[in-house]
Amino acid sequence: MPVDRLLPSDDARDLIALTRDVADKVLDPIVDEYERDEKYPEGVMAQLGAAGLLSLPQPEEWGGGGQPYEVYLQVLEEIAARWAAIGVAVSVHSLSSHPLLAYGTEEQKQRWLPGMLAGDQIGAYSLSEPQAGSDAAALNCKATRDGDSYVLNGSKAWITHGGKADFYTLFARSGEGSKGISCFLVPADLDGLSFGKPEEKMGLHAVPTTSAFYDNARLPADRLIGTEGQGLSIAFSALDSGRLGIAAVAVGIAQAALDEAVRYANERTTFGRKIVDHQGLGFLLADMAAAVVSARATYLDAARRRDLGLPYSSQASVAKLIATDAAMKVTTDAVQVFGGVGYTRDFRVERFMREAKITQIFEGTNQIQRLVISRGLGS
Ligand SMILES: Cc1cc2nc3c(=O)[nH]c(=O)nc-3n(C[C@H](O)[C@H](O)[C@H](O)COP(=O)(O)OP(=O)(O)OC[C@H]3O[C@@H](n4cnc5c(N)ncnc54)[C@H](O)[C@@H]3O)c2cc1C
Repeated sequence: MPVDRLLPSDDARDLIALTRDVADKVLDPIVDEYERDEKYPEGVMAQLGAAGLLSLPQPEEWGGGGQPYEVYLQVLEEIAARWAAIGVAVSVHSLSSHPLLAYGTEEQKQRWLPGMLAGDQIGAYSLSEPQAGSDAAALNCKATRDGDSYVLNGSKAWITHGGKADFYTLFARSGEGSKGISCFLVPADLDGLSFGKPEEKMGLHAVPTTSAFYDNARLPADRLIGTEGQGLSIAFSALDSGRLGIAAVAVGIAQAALDEAVRYANERTTFGRKIVDHQGLGFLLADMAAAVVSARATYLDAARRRDLGLPYSSQASVAKLIATDAAMKVTTDAVQVFGGVGYTRDFRVERFMREAKITQIFEGTNQIQRLVISRGLGS
């Protein structure tokens, strides 16, 4: 059963219908094969871009869809329910274009934003380094000003879409301390930039995650976004929006797991009745449904605050924490509903469980979300 959504407009209802149609035709037929074989689905992001699904929340003047965040996130949830790795890639693309949109000059936006929002230029977000994940301010990759260029040296880690994206929103050190970090827009074909081999991950197999290496890579200085030293605050402001994307992805995974579990519980019989009719299992499904609905409510609450121009950083962290923990619990319980076959690769629920795990880790682990929430309590 498709989720019965409360949507604010006819436009939003049309978008959800369009997304389900694209998901049915483009994502669903190939997801199992590509995840199993760890193959990158060339052209899928371009198809989403052509359908207008890569730029929903951005302003129409730059080619975006001009949709409220609460609508964009529900579209993202629908995509992630069919294919979590693609949902993450869509969310990261939006995260990567946020700095240019929010901090770029008019001239920079005119040059690069329309291509990004049309999906011709797919983005990746490059903040983490091997020794700097939660502690982003510990990053070391250097950006040294030299005439009209910055010379980049060092390595970055854990880049979603690494080696496949067309541009990298890079955070590199141009000075000392947390105010010595700057944000740059790096084209994928920059001389001196290379990528590591894809990490061998637990899930999200179809979209690579790689390191990147900068070896005296010379970047024109007009690719600095915002001012020198503003990088960390740009990174964190992008992550407030990005965390809402991850919350929506997590709810999509959880919803898909719930749907599979409900279907199976109505087919499988034990002791002469469907397993859904054993109260112990029916209550497990009820708890799963309640977790999905309440997780969705937390991201919608934060998104509505964002849409109204209100502060939403704490609420975004609450949404990320609640939704991703719910996804982990619901997907684990979905495997339980399937019994022994749930532990095999014959059914999607084992993949959902592997995919849910990463949502508790990236874009700020759930320990870091608690830090953000607790710091916001006193203010
Ligand atoms: C599949 C995947 C995709 C990713 N994609 C991207 C991407 O596109 N771009 C990008 O920049 N990064 C990306 N990352 C990196 C990701 O954001 C980091 O892995 C994450 O922020 C955690 O950092 P870390 O791995 O260094 O763990 P650490 O920071 O070393 O943390 C280890 C443990 O210590 C805990 N911890 C750390 N500090 C504290 C504290 N102060 N209080 C309490 N607990 C703490 C953490 O919660 C965690 O449990 C990705 C990672 C993965 C695995």
